[in-house]
Amino acid sequence: MSNALKISHIPTDAPTSAADREAILAKGGFGTAFSDHMVTIEWTEGIGWHNAQVRKREAFKIDPAAAVLHYAQEIFEGMKAYRGEGDSVTLFRADQNAERFNASATRMAMPTIPQDLFLEAVDALVRIDKDWIPSGNGSLYLRPFMFADEPFLGVRPAHHFVFCVIASPVGDYFKSGPKPVKVWVSKEYTRAAVGGTGAAKCGGNYAASLVAQAQAYENGCEQVVFLDAAEHKWIEELGGMNIFFVKDDGNLFTTPLGTILPGITRASLIELARSKGLTVEERKYSFAEWQADVASGKVKETFACGTAAVVASIGEVKFDGGSFTIGNGDSGPVTNALRDELSGLQRGKVADTRGWVRTIK
Ligand SMILES: *Cc1c(COP(=O)(O)O)cnc(C)c1O
Repeated sequence: MSNALKISHIPTDAPTSAADREAILAKGGFGTAFSDHMVTIEWTEGIGWHNAQVRKREAFKIDPAAAVLHYAQEIFEGMKAYRGEGDSVTLFRADQNAERFNASATRMAMPTIPQDLFLEAVDALVRIDKDWIPSGNGSLYLRPFMFADEPFLGVRPAHHFVFCVIASPVGDYFKSGPKPVKVWVSKEYTRAAVGGTGAAKCGGNYAASLVAQAQAYENGCEQVVFLDAAEHKWIEELGGMNIFFVKDDGNLFTTPLGTILPGITRASLIELARSKGLTVEERKYSFAEWQADVASGKVKETFACGTAAVVASIGEVKFDGGSFTIGNGDSGPVTNALRDELSGLQRGKVADTRGWVRTIK
């Protein structure tokens, strides 16, 4: 699909001052600060995509009957712009985000967006808010999303949608070094069932995960590990990250696609590990096997991965009835090597031989 739509530019007349912006960038954190602009594009049944603008970031005015507020027709993506060598600005595998966005749209009965329009929207925002990309280990987190704003209380796919991209400067996730996370295995709640929306990046999946996330916090853990919905036995993934296991011979395995979110970090790590000569299986793995394999030493490391956290080592696992530590509780050598290689690639410090990194001009 090709895109003839041009994005018109209406820059803000009240940009954040350089001093205020630098103070915001210095704070780091995740998802609390936002750049000056946003991109919006509308979709209307029978007309298609129109009214594309990069303009000042401001609140939406939406009708109280807007479908998204009632039936949650909403999807999103998460990606990062990096400040690379010589002040260049790069994106990592953004085409994959565009493709997945459309897969999510299809699952949620929403219109797809031409891939080049999605990418142009992201590029336009990064260009206009380039100064919001932190230097050092930070990045500009980009959040493309789409929601149904037609005022209508009948249950059917909406006839009007808004596509939007906003940007949030984020600090280094590993400020205190790669500190391992503690995870809570939920035996009570699940996030996805066969035939459901687990593979779509839709807001509703996150809403459904929050009660389990709250239990994780109560138990001193940062993240939840979800098990499958049918048997409450097979490991799926975390609330917003995929999961990998490292065996005693250094080879890896990860849980299979299907009900999990097909992470771009997951796919990239599979390729990177294989080109280092390691094997990576995609296979079903039960919570009981994980416990037994960590106890016997057959599994030496476990890590979570996603765009926001990149690669996060899992040090301790808690559940209703006990807990166990993986290895000595520290980030292991295979986890560290893969993290270094992936973040080096994303930041232009490791040569890109796969065409994964694109410079925004
Ligand atoms: C976004 C997301 C991931 C990670 O995907 P990446 O493309 O690697 O950022 C994993 N699991 C869930 C549930 C997600 O929403």
